[in-house]
Formats: sequence, C-alpha cells, structure tokens
Amino acid sequence: MDIRKLVKPNVRALKAYQAEEVPCKVKLDANESPYGFTVLKNVKTNKYPDPEARDLRRLIAKDLRVSPENILHGNGSDELIYNLITTFGGPVLYPTPTFTMYGIIAQALGEQHIGIALDADFDLNIRGMLTAMKKTKAKLIFLSSPNNPTGNSFSAERMTEIIKKSRGLVVVDEAYQPFSSRKSFVPLLKKNRNLIVLRTLSKIGLAGLRTGFMVSHEDIIQEVNKVRLPFNLNSLSQKVAIDALKRSSRLRSNIRSIVSERTRLFRELNKMEEILPYPSDANFILFQVNNGDAVFRALLKKGVLIRNMKGIADGFLRVTVGTPRENNFFLKNLRQVL
Ligand code: PMP
Repeated sequence: MDIRKLVKPNVRALKAYQAEEVPCKVKLDANESPYGFTVLKNVKTNKYPDPEARDLRRLIAKDLRVSPENILHGNGSDELIYNLITTFGGPVLYPTPTFTMYGIIAQALGEQHIGIALDADFDLNIRGMLTAMKKTKAKLIFLSSPNNPTGNSFSAERMTEIIKKSRGLVVVDEAYQPFSSRKSFVPLLKKNRNLIVLRTLSKIGLAGLRTGFMVSHEDIIQEVNKVRLPFNLNSLSQKVAIDALKRSSRLRSNIRSIVSERTRLFRELNKMEEILPYPSDANFILFQVNNGDAVFRALLKKGVLIRNMKGIADGFLRVTVGTPRENNFFLKNLRQVL
C-alpha cells in the first residue's frame, strides 16, 4: 500500500515544520523570553517545549516495543483524530454508537462520515462494515476497542478482517486498552501497513496533561506530522508524563484496582432487578434502566453525576468506575432512587 496516495493532495504537498534543536551556548533564535520560572525541575517556562517530545516518545516506544519513529504525540488522542482526518480526509467510517468525536471532527472538516450500527451484542456488524467500506471507498475507519460507550471489545477476528480488506487506513482506538483482558493490536502493526493504533494517558490518571499517541508505520507518521502544530505538547505535560510513566508500578496498581472495582460494580448492578448492566472491558459500565432520564436526574439531586446516554436509546446510562468509596456512594444512592 502506498500511503502517500491516500493523503489529501494539499497535505501531500506540505513539508513538515522543522523546529531544529541545535546545541548552543546562547539560544536567541526563537523569540523566547530570557526570563522564566522553574515550576518543575528542568522545566523552564520561557523556552518552547521539545517539539518532537523525544524523551516521552522514547519511553512510550519502549513500553509498546516499537521504535520512536513509529510514534506521534498529540495534545490528547483527540488531537490526533483531528490530525488524521485533516491528513487523509474522508469518507470516515465507524460503527455506532461509538466515541462521538470521530463524526464531529469529520463533520467540522467537511468530510463525509458514515456510521454503521453495531449488532445486538454491540459487536461489529461485519457485513455492514465491509459493504460500506467498499461502497464508500472509506479512507479512514475508526474502531474504538474497547468501545466507548458500550464498554465491550470488538471481536478480534472481525477487526482483523476489516484491516485486511480495507483499502484505506484502519484506526484502532485503544484508549481503554489498559483495562482490557484482550490483546493490544500494536503487535499487528508490523504486518499491516494500513493499521494505526491510538493510545492515551487520559484514562490512567493523567487526563489533565492532555497527552495521547498514535502508533503506526513511519510513512503514516511522516504525513500526519505535517499537519501537527509544532509545539502541540507543552513542557509541563511532557515532564509530568515522563515522571508518571517511570512510576509504572503505581500506574499498574491503580489500573488493577479499577478493574477489580469494575467487577464488583457489575456484580452489584446485576443484583438489582431494574438494572441491566453490560459487561465491560473498560473503566466504565453501560447499563439500562426504565425511566433513565428520571434515574439520572434523581441521582444528580443526590450529588451523583453519571452520563445519560439517551443518544443510544432512552434508558441507557453510563457510570465511570471510581474509588471503592465513590462506587459505594453511587450504589447506595442508586438503590434508594430505584
Ligand atoms: N478515544 C476514545 C474512545 C475516548 O473515549 C476518548 C475520551 N473520552 C478519547 C479517544 C480521547 O481521549 P484524549 O483526547 O483525552 O486522549
């Protein structure tokens, strides 16, 4: 597959902005102020951040067992979704319901976007997806797995079939992968040049940093890098992300406790006659209840904010897994409301 053929002509003609880091004694090339603050060790507020986020990308690359050239950093993974659609354009295809930003960004950029309803098990409607891929000549296909808001992972066989048969690029959005028992698609990158995997630090305790990554073949990285704004990831985020990632045992134990709380939350929800919870591979649980709107509002009155997912259908609500205390507070109030 020649990636360049998929790139929008206006982007193909671009050259990536080069903000070169030249070693020197006095740096007077970038209109920075000489006066700054040291808010964190080694972070100077008056200097621009490393445009290539080298140290951070190196760390992520090691973690994912790929090379840093296969990684591009985003101000959140949603920025990378924006950059991907800017680079390749539509048609953009995705199952529904899913993360709404795929459609919103495609629409904002004036690109055609098509949603294909998931099947009754919230898995990919493989026939529908394959037909739409062919008919529309989709350039970008977004598969959030585990899927937001349904919480399940899609069948790996169906995803692989889409990757194999697509003549465009397939983006597997692994925002919730750290909570999943399924295998990541990162190892499949070697054999599938049209595959892109999205990752984020947002769900593992670092949402405030706005830090996400895409992992793919270098040819794709190079094209998307042309539309990335030069200093998209600020110095503080880079520094804090590096420090946090180095404390991997703490990150892992936080993930473990969320997964174990998810199991407990599911069990407790399942015990309630009025509630139909859906099994989740993510850090949230989707459930169904009669009078969803009323339940949502009554919980809010008691100080519990969950997400009303009436976009799927009336009665669908989504709760994020919190600390054991937060989850108990939610469960106690939900029982009262019911
Ligand atoms: N992908 C999915 C599936 C998501 O649910 C989210 C956040 N809700 C994102 C991407 C974006 O995450 P961020 O921009 O914080 O990295």
